[in-house]
Order: sequence, then C-alpha cells, then structure tokens
Amino acid sequence: MTAKSMMPYVEGNSAIRAMFEEGARMAAQFGSENVYDFSLGNPSVPAPKEVDQAIRDILDEEDPLLIHGYNKSNSGYEDVRQTVADHLNRLHGTAFTSENILMTVGAASGLNIAMKTLLDPGDEVLAFAPYFVEYGNYAKNHGAFVTAIPANPPTFQPDLEGLEKAISEKTRAVIINSPNNPTGVVYSEDTLKEMAKILTRGSARIGHPIFIISDEPYRELAYDGVDVPYVTKYYANTIVGYSWSKSLSLPGERIGYLVIPSEIDDFENAIQAANIAGRVLGYVNAPTLIQRVAARCIECSTDIDAYDRNRRTIYEGLTEIGYECTKPEGAFYLFVKTPIEDDVEFCAMAKKHRILIVPGRSFACPGYVRLAYSVDHGTIQRSLPHFKDLLAETV
Ligand code: PLP
Repeated sequence: MTAKSMMPYVEGNSAIRAMFEEGARMAAQFGSENVYDFSLGNPSVPAPKEVDQAIRDILDEEDPLLIHGYNKSNSGYEDVRQTVADHLNRLHGTAFTSENILMTVGAASGLNIAMKTLLDPGDEVLAFAPYFVEYGNYAKNHGAFVTAIPANPPTFQPDLEGLEKAISEKTRAVIINSPNNPTGVVYSEDTLKEMAKILTRGSARIGHPIFIISDEPYRELAYDGVDVPYVTKYYANTIVGYSWSKSLSLPGERIGYLVIPSEIDDFENAIQAANIAGRVLGYVNAPTLIQRVAARCIECSTDIDAYDRNRRTIYEGLTEIGYECTKPEGAFYLFVKTPIEDDVEFCAMAKKHRILIVPGRSFACPGYVRLAYSVDHGTIQRSLPHFKDLLAETV
C-alpha cells in the first residue's frame, strides 16, 4: 500500500498532470502555435555547442573507467571542484578551494543535501513568499518545515522586518533565491547586508547560528547589467546551491554544486556531513561525465539575449495592455497581479483563451500568476491579443 504521507503529493501531482494533459489536448485541437504555454520553467534556448563538443572530446580523450565510474569522493572529482572554486574566486574575489565545493545532482539534490546537513526534525526554515514550492517538500524530507514570510509587493525584495519578527528558537535556516523564481527580482547588496545584520542578531538571540541557504540556479540569467551579489561575502553562515540547469540549459543532465565555505560554523563536521548526506540520500555522486563537461564549459553561457528579448516583449506587452507586474531583472519569469482576486479562477479563465499560467498560490502568494517566458518569441507575440481579451473579460 502507498504510504499515507505520499498521498497529498499524489493528489497535488494529479493537478499538474491534468494541466500537462490539457496543454497537449489543446495543442492537438488548435495547433501548438495557437496554445500559449507559459507554465513550465524549461529552458527554451539549446545548450551551447561547446557542451556537445566537450562530451565528444571527453569520450575520445578520457579514461572510460574514470568518466563513467564512481567518484572516489562522494563530493565529486577533485580537479572539477578546483575548477569551480577557481572560477568563483575569479568572478567574486572569494577564496574557495576544492574542499569547499560538493558536486550535486542539480540544485534540487544540493538543497536536500544542505538541508540534511543543517536540519534536525522539528527545525524551521524561513522562506520569503513567493517561493519555489519544492522548498516545503524538501524541508519535510528531513522532518523540518518551512514558514513563509509574507510577500512584499510591489518590489518583492524580502521583507526584512518580517524576517526579524519571524525568527524563533526553531529557526535553523533562511532559504533565499535570487534571481527569483517566480518574480524575477534580484536581491540588492543593501538587502543582503541588512539581512546579514538581522541574522547575526537573531542567531545571538536564539543561541544558535541561523544559516542562509542561497538557491542560485538563475545566477547568470540577469539583465541590464544588474549585479547579483555573492551571498557568502555578506554572511559567513551561508551555503550556496548552484546548478547548470538554466545557465547551460542542461536540466535533464542533473548537474550542479554546493559551496560550503570554510567560515561556516562547525565547518569540519558540516563538510563531512554534506558528503555523507549525498550518499545516504541515494545520490552517491553527481553524474561523472557531466561533471567533466561542466568543468570544460565553465566559461560558457547560454544565449541571455534571447531571454532578454522575451522579457522585454512580454513585460512591455502586458503592462501596455493594463496588467500590473514588477519588471523582472533576472531568471525567466514574470509575476503578474491578477485582475480578479482569485488566481486559480484567473488561470481557469486564461485557459479558455488558450493561455497556460500558474497560480501564485503555488508559490505561497495568492492574487498573482507566474508566466515562464522561456518560450519561443513568436509565442509571446501571438499571445498578447489573447491576454488583452482575457483582461477585458474581467472588467
Ligand atoms: N530552485 C529553483 C528556484 C528552481 O526554479 C528550480 C528549478 O526550476 C530548482 C531549484 C531546481 O533546479 P535543478 O533542475 O537544478 O534541480
């Protein structure tokens, strides 16, 4: 019999499956060019050519027993981890070594490893709404729970007063995500400095360190030259989770890393615990061939300009029509205020216009919808008249 604890997930998943099926049915009925599917955060830009070339070169040049074998250390190849550390040091003026890097199976496994390393059952993780819904599921995996700090519209910068008030003796970590899914907001340096002060004060008050888990799969997807500050420089007790899912368009390859700085509290135990956590959670090590690909492609980037063009078209198009939204500075999402109160109802109305979008309450933020603009540019252009009709229907 299926575990009772899994049943809420099964029920939640059938809603997602129903949406996929509906999308496929609509594409078959109306033609895929007439369905405006903004529901999924799947990259719309192919991986850079260098990635495919690196795979071929590695297959030709490297020892098959090594590239397909278990890693000696669960943290990954020593030379790959050093390449990642050197890259970060060059970009951010940090001083990481291979010892601070743990290769992971995408950001998802990195976050689970970070949580297993830090959290005991009953511990609390604070998250700023709106946030990636899986955080709650990941925390639950470790007997912990997420408490949402209410959203702070229209800037959607984290509500720092809310953070200060929310800290309790159960608080072990705050999870942050910038550039943000679903708002596209980038947290400023001032925000991070103030957050660091609050967490330092809060840690002293409750008598144990509060960690930042910085979830950064969209770090490179930043527009208009906006700075995405590197969080470890502002707060010592920070673990960074990174992934190449979006930055190199490799979500199916499942590759990323954690940065566990030497400055964190109880570093020696934490680094070993993280190494063991990956193993006991069943990841064992990150995919070995793709680790080597990532290292060879460390300087490569995806076609940011394509996402930027989409961002401008959808933001300008929707605001011109009369929708309210915050201009995203990063990632590939737009968070739009719903013209009616009920975001689920609004998504149902949108579907009738062949527009597929996700309700804000899936991100602990009702009254908004998320659009993933990682789609073909023509889809955005063709969708705009339908968004106009949809808005007209609400007045
Ligand atoms: N964190 C956020 C905010 C995401 O949006 C995603 C994926 O969409 C992930 C984590 C998971 O990323 P990965 O595919 O690297 O596991």
